[in-house]
Amino acid sequence: MLPSVRGKLLWRIADLIEKNGAQLAELEFLNNGKARDIVAQRDVPAAADVFRYFAGWATKIYGRTAAISRPHLHAYTLKEPIGVAGLIIPWNFPLLMAAWKLAPALAAGCSCVLKPAEETPLTALRLVELVLEAGVPPGVVNLVTGYGHVAGAALAAHDGVDKIAFTGSTEVGKLIVLAAAGNLKKLSLELGGKSPTIILPDADKSAAKMAAAGSIFFNAGQVCAAGSRLFVHKSIFDEVVESVAQRAKAIRVGSGDEPETEMGPLISKKHLERVDGYVQGGIKQGAEVLAGGGRIDRDGYFFNPTVLVGADPNMEVVQEEIFGPVLVCDSFEDLDEVAAKANSSIYGLSASIWTRDLKAAHTLARKLQAGSILINAGGGLDPNLPFGGYKQSGWGREFGEDGLELYLQTKSVVIGG
Ligand code: NAP
Ligand code: MG
Repeated sequence: MLPSVRGKLLWRIADLIEKNGAQLAELEFLNNGKARDIVAQRDVPAAADVFRYFAGWATKIYGRTAAISRPHLHAYTLKEPIGVAGLIIPWNFPLLMAAWKLAPALAAGCSCVLKPAEETPLTALRLVELVLEAGVPPGVVNLVTGYGHVAGAALAAHDGVDKIAFTGSTEVGKLIVLAAAGNLKKLSLELGGKSPTIILPDADKSAAKMAAAGSIFFNAGQVCAAGSRLFVHKSIFDEVVESVAQRAKAIRVGSGDEPETEMGPLISKKHLERVDGYVQGGIKQGAEVLAGGGRIDRDGYFFNPTVLVGADPNMEVVQEEIFGPVLVCDSFEDLDEVAAKANSSIYGLSASIWTRDLKAAHTLARKLQAGSILINAGGGLDPNLPFGGYKQSGWGREFGEDGLELYLQTKSVVIGG
């Protein structure tokens, strides 16, 4: 299909996402319990934006001519679609994750097989209908539901699949690496995190406290880049941690269809038990609870926003990705110490720094092992900014030109005289 036609189709998909925004919000609420308003205000426009962004890239794919040291030869490179892309996504932002994968794959000219998480197939199913409605020919975008260990594993191992783009746990990411060995399909992996928020003594404290709480309690902590470890300078530790705990206690936890809800439930009973297991384990090993500390006594999978202090750095609650509303807090005295603490993780997805000291900000930005560094800023995701992990947080970068490259391969062509 011509690049301009692909671009037009991607733009049309974005329009259809917006046009069907209310319905997609309803489906996402049924999918994973998050509030319709939050989906309508955040996830739906963000999904449309990703399609519009990559609509632009469809007409901006080019190779290069190469100066080579051989007489009378003309050499150039072509960028070609990588082939059939298997797209395996999680349940935390089902619509958005589908958009993150489908948009660059289609911009590059790949055909795709999308596998949503078994907990949350609804918005992906509707999105694929919208893709057809936009005019993408049948067969280009395919969707398969089913369990990861069955449908996902079959996709990851299939010889007819040329690439897998995966978002999910580091554990399953490693299984996909093994499954991909059969035909050496290309991989991009967006995996877990245990991202630090670092607050220096000169920071704008009220902004930093709000952001620290927002970063871990948004989406009930079910965010790969959630700021799940908080490091605060010793001189302001008690004050900052106490107010983050106050904020945690004030968050209104409830169902996505209760209008006052600020934080929704966890995705499933299994996940609730997993999150609770980490927290109870941490408490048993000596962590002190400043807020929350357990599940909420009502039907459904609700967990109290939790703030822990005094955990030993080697405890599971500090080292492992909990993927729930659980913050562990520690103090530090200087930049080297906090960099070492922040980097003592197998993960490296994101890190936040709060300071007014430009030199300290630059110094830390370079020392921290993470794919994204936020300085005095929350959020920070944008389709034009590469996003991905250092260390065991993944392979490759989604978004930006890097994100398009994940779905392209380079061919070198040499022509003699
Ligand atoms: P997961 O197991 O990694 O699932 C992610 C996706 O991979 C789902 O579509 C899943 O299918 C599929 N999958 C599972 N096993 C597979 C296999 N052997 N081969 C191919 N695909 C497979 O994540 P989860 O079970 O939903 O959550 C577990 C933990 O993962 C969380 O607690 C959290 O720590 C982490 N997580 C991280 C992210 C992130 O954005 N980085 C997102 C979600 C979860 P089914 O679920 O349908 O079986
Ligand atoms: Mg799962």
